[in-house]
Amino acid sequence: MLKYCLKLNAFILLLTLFCLTTTAGFASDKKGVLKAGAATSNITPPLGQLIVGGWKPIPATQVHDELHARSIVLDDGQTRLAIVLCDNVGIPESVFDLAKEQAHKATGIPKSHMLLASTHTHSATTARGPSKVIRETELTEYQKFLANRIADSIQRALFQLEPARIGWGKVDEPSEVHNRRWFVNDTSLLTNPFGGIDRVRMNPPRAHKALDRPAGPTDPEISFISIQSLDQRPIALLANYSLHYVGGVRSGEISADYFGYFARIITRKLNAENQYPPFVGILSNGTSGDVNNINFTEKNGRRYKQYEKMQEVAEKVASRVQEAHQKITFHDWVPLGAATASLPLKLRKPTPEMLEHFAKVTSAPKDKSQTRHSREEIYAERIAGLKDAPDEIQIPLQAIRIGDLGITAIPFETFTETGLELKDRSPFAETFTIELANGSFGYLPTPEQHRWGGYETWLGTNFVEKDASTKIVTTLLDLFQSLKNEQPSTQTK
Ligand SMILES: [Zn+2]
Repeated sequence: MLKYCLKLNAFILLLTLFCLTTTAGFASDKKGVLKAGAATSNITPPLGQLIVGGWKPIPATQVHDELHARSIVLDDGQTRLAIVLCDNVGIPESVFDLAKEQAHKATGIPKSHMLLASTHTHSATTARGPSKVIRETELTEYQKFLANRIADSIQRALFQLEPARIGWGKVDEPSEVHNRRWFVNDTSLLTNPFGGIDRVRMNPPRAHKALDRPAGPTDPEISFISIQSLDQRPIALLANYSLHYVGGVRSGEISADYFGYFARIITRKLNAENQYPPFVGILSNGTSGDVNNINFTEKNGRRYKQYEKMQEVAEKVASRVQEAHQKITFHDWVPLGAATASLPLKLRKPTPEMLEHFAKVTSAPKDKSQTRHSREEIYAERIAGLKDAPDEIQIPLQAIRIGDLGITAIPFETFTETGLELKDRSPFAETFTIELANGSFGYLPTPEQHRWGGYETWLGTNFVEKDASTKIVTTLLDLFQSLKNEQPSTQTK
């Protein structure tokens, strides 16, 4: 059963007026003063902790650039929201829950009004326990530190609260998004670790003659929200782009990837350096579970130096945002809202065939390994790890409303077509999704993508029932509708 925890404070008549007017058009009708604050807390771990972006974890030996939790707090006079993006590959719900608990105690902001998410940099150290679907009972030192620092950043952002104005916009940058799942006409490229043949291959060899067509779309849209003081000093800018990550780091080095570069570059482009309170630039991850920036139809291009490519992509995304930013409309008040739901999803279980296959894999002599799939042993371990998993988990879903802009929060590496569907069916004028928000439960392919197979659909990469994305979209659209229709009401927990 869905349980909605709604904090409702819309003003339908005011919103209608808002839609019909332009800049600050409803200043005289507003129900309060819009306020905003932003802050950044350093979340860089100690060296020696494990970096987990690749197939094999490696210990961190150097910090290329520091990792951060970047926070925005908004207040419309009745409702307070906090949005925090953390430089990590995927933070579990248990850590975010602790952060929310601590931040709620310190600030009074309802937990349901906090959207906490990971950027998905692949060059941060782990903030996860051993399983993505079995909740930890004991948190590690780094997990506790991380929760603490996230809560601090919310508290610090709240401390900076001042009267503000807000605007949003969008602009396309298609050159850095490519669907990484391809139909290929060569079964030797389609084997999977379960002893079967898929129809779709993730990251196929570039410019290979067997490439047929991508198995899904891309979303070229960069959405952004800009917040300024009343005298137009930049306070924060939150952007959203559906590109997995860029990579190209030196082995063993900690980096926030292009998300970190974007934060620095947009600060420069908005002339917001050396100010107090410091400006906070943020790039959140959209729906990029099946999208990277490799053009698979081209042979390898020129070789980039380490960190060069991520810098180039961040520069490009920040330039688009800067251009579009000049044309947006700022509002000196908008209604805010947040709604959450806890959605039960069944966990997939290993089939008898899978168990039989992996029993053979683990008992086979090592010297026969060259005839097997290169990831078989990894998946044998992942499948074995599922034996203590529950039959069902509850996943947190959330929708945020900022005027006529809607944001959905999904705790999975979400496929682009799911993000596009939400944009298409949203009742709000503009919409974007922040993935890996409020938890991290693996990949979320659509039911159709499940039928085609490929890495993101394999049990051990994906964990939840195959029609989960459909249920998630339905629930999020219900939350959006409730925010759209909301009436002033009392605060929930
Ligand atoms: Zn990833």
